[in-house]
Amino acid sequence: MSSSALQVGSSTSLSKKRPAEDNDALSMEGSKGHKVAKVHPFFSKSSQELKTTSAFQWHKPLGARSSCLYGTNLDPACSPKVAAFDLDGTLIKPSFGKGAVKKALKGSPPAWEWWKDRVPNTLKDLNSEGYSIVIISNQAIKGASLITWKEKIRLIAAALPSVPFRILAAIAKDEYRKPMPGMWIELTKKFKDEGVEIDKTASFFVGDAAGRDSDFASTDRKWALNVDLPFFTPEEYFLKQPVQTKFKLDGFSVVDLPTLPLFSSDTPVIADIRQREIVVLVGFPGVGKSTICQRYFVSRGYERINQDTLGTRPKCVAAVEKALQKDLSCVVDNTNRDVQTRKFYVDVARKFKVPIRCFVFSGTMELAWHNNLYRAFNQPPSTASQEEKRALVPYLAFTSFRDGYEEPTLSEGFSEIQTVNWVFEGTEEERKYWSMWLQIQGK
Ligand SMILES: [Mg+2]
Repeated sequence: MSSSALQVGSSTSLSKKRPAEDNDALSMEGSKGHKVAKVHPFFSKSSQELKTTSAFQWHKPLGARSSCLYGTNLDPACSPKVAAFDLDGTLIKPSFGKGAVKKALKGSPPAWEWWKDRVPNTLKDLNSEGYSIVIISNQAIKGASLITWKEKIRLIAAALPSVPFRILAAIAKDEYRKPMPGMWIELTKKFKDEGVEIDKTASFFVGDAAGRDSDFASTDRKWALNVDLPFFTPEEYFLKQPVQTKFKLDGFSVVDLPTLPLFSSDTPVIADIRQREIVVLVGFPGVGKSTICQRYFVSRGYERINQDTLGTRPKCVAAVEKALQKDLSCVVDNTNRDVQTRKFYVDVARKFKVPIRCFVFSGTMELAWHNNLYRAFNQPPSTASQEEKRALVPYLAFTSFRDGYEEPTLSEGFSEIQTVNWVFEGTEEERKYWSMWLQIQGK
């Protein structure tokens, strides 16, 4: 334990002043046999005073977008044993919904209450047992609410005057947001910098978003699965209730994907390389179009036509014509969702009297969005640092493809339509990160 834990005299006194209903905690701590005043610290000290007495500090936020807040209470050591906790609904009562803490009066310090009276003592015990205590929280707040929330964390820290801990909080929809593993990766890095390897088997995570019938989500359980930590609900951990085996993990998981061959038919991708042609790709963003384009067509001399690069569709159409004039085949690597869009290229094929073929990518919207999240946020730390991260494609690109999609047919003028399936390609480590739960809502 850090020595500074013993030097925070003025904040130690705060610990004695627990919420009035905190009898459980009192009885557990009451070995010295004296009664302590049941005055809540909020009412005895102004928040300004708390600030100066607190051993809690907010540090520089983590990440390229500063979207992971990082704070420490006292001077937490790095132990290979990590006790990680969600905050709302786990350590403290939630701010909203069932059993929520009452709102603070205007102008008074932010309101909060322990989830159960025994929480602070459990944290104290864990600290004595040599665990590093870490709070891992998703917060969807900004501006004034974020300032209030940060103040609330100081108050919680002041109520834990002898418990060093770290808190990481994701405030954006990015790699830090649970169930994405970003906060764990940051934590692992911090420990590694101190020469400490976290022992996952000796560590655990407690959270209330566990996919039980009454839970609003399963984010915490998914996060534990992603980072490979033993998981408990607050009831299981703090109240020693039996482990619930009944839970549901909603949403898209790559585990449920069927195993399909890359191409649905045995038809050669290119039958005659000497035959000048147009190839039109059709599919959601992120389902492998550019990979196929590069591997099977560009590598064999096809000109790649892409609207993200060229800017507008007329420019794409003009580029196709130019390629054909130069006697080059070309491949239109756009989403090409409807008949009308594809007709522009069918018309060029007619004009130049060359065949036009279509390759339809069968990947669903859920898979496409998952791949989008993976590419932007969840590539393995080793890969991500080498490669430039791809920006997240906006959700609208996916819904507009879905809503406007018209399945390609031969009657549009194609000489052939081939189906291309999604097959993950990458190292084992990349597959591990791709296979994680990556849900963040698009909107
Ligand atoms: Mg929670």
